Amino acid sequence: MEKILDVTDLHVTFTTYGGTVQAVRGVSFHLNKGETLAIVGESGCGKSVTSNAIMRLIPSPPGKISNGTILFKGKDLSKLSEKKMRAIRGVDISMIFQDPMTALNPTLTIGTQLIEGLKQHQNVSDAEAKEKALEMLNLVGIPNPAERMKQFPHQFSGGMRQRIVIATALICEPELLIADEPTTALDVTIQAQILELFEKIQDVTGVSIILITHDLGVVAKLADRIAVMYAGKIIETGTKRDIFYNPQHPYTKGLLNSVPRLDAKGKLQPIDGTPPDLFSPPAGCPFTPRCPFAMEVCNKVYPDSSKLSDSHTVDCWLQDVRAKQLVTTTVTKQ
Ligand code: SF4
Repeated sequence: MEKILDVTDLHVTFTTYGGTVQAVRGVSFHLNKGETLAIVGESGCGKSVTSNAIMRLIPSPPGKISNGTILFKGKDLSKLSEKKMRAIRGVDISMIFQDPMTALNPTLTIGTQLIEGLKQHQNVSDAEAKEKALEMLNLVGIPNPAERMKQFPHQFSGGMRQRIVIATALICEPELLIADEPTTALDVTIQAQILELFEKIQDVTGVSIILITHDLGVVAKLADRIAVMYAGKIIETGTKRDIFYNPQHPYTKGLLNSVPRLDAKGKLQPIDGTPPDLFSPPAGCPFTPRCPFAMEVCNKVYPDSSKLSDSHTVDCWLQDVRAKQLVTTTVTKQ
């Protein structure tokens, strides 16, 4: 499969009066052409910072991409000048943010925003831009698009506004779409419609998608592969099947156990405790204080990535062959 994005050892820091926050700590992942990768985890785990780093939207100062490469079609985005990056943003890579109201300009009509967005990046006539805007509004399911192009954002419902934001992101036909919590601000029925819209868009345009979310329901519907983040690191990656049916990291298992399920019996099991302070993250596994299986080594040394299959990797000492021997020995002695 052709890789469209390849991120290696990405580190992002924020320097504040209180010290340096290590928000992203050595993240590596890739995205294949035409697939959807979901990056999941609790608030503050570094998933949005990772997507902003890909778009080079980390405010500097206080933020900084302190290490790593972000290869987009072979080009390292982390090294590009701001001018070159501006030519990529919105054209080759687009982003959808969680609140559709703040993503649209309240003082301009929808038509103006779509047409201006296209004309800024492509050499097209007014008539061609208008035709493309109508095509995009049709694609995202806005009824009577010719009339609605003349209206302002406040004249649309929340779900319709998110459809318009998606049309704005797609108008230049990007190859990569980053959707940061795209359904969080919407109610459940509208969420379902927007998720179906994403599937339709991917079928029609073939765009590759990075989906940033804490909502495992959204992941189950849309993702091909999943990367689970915790305390600035990716701690498990796999296909949707690997993560939902064979999770191996105790944190991933905890996340799945804390989601309400129709077929579940008994109480939900929350993950006790809180993530570590990223001003001074631990040298070892950051999940140690919350992990029911923590061993002495966990607190001291971060585990290597264990490859469980071609698609499935996990960073946990429980996968180390020595830990497995230790468990076997202990059980045999009892
Ligand atoms: Fe738990 Fe240790 Fe695995 Fe971390 S490395 S998840 S503390 S068993």
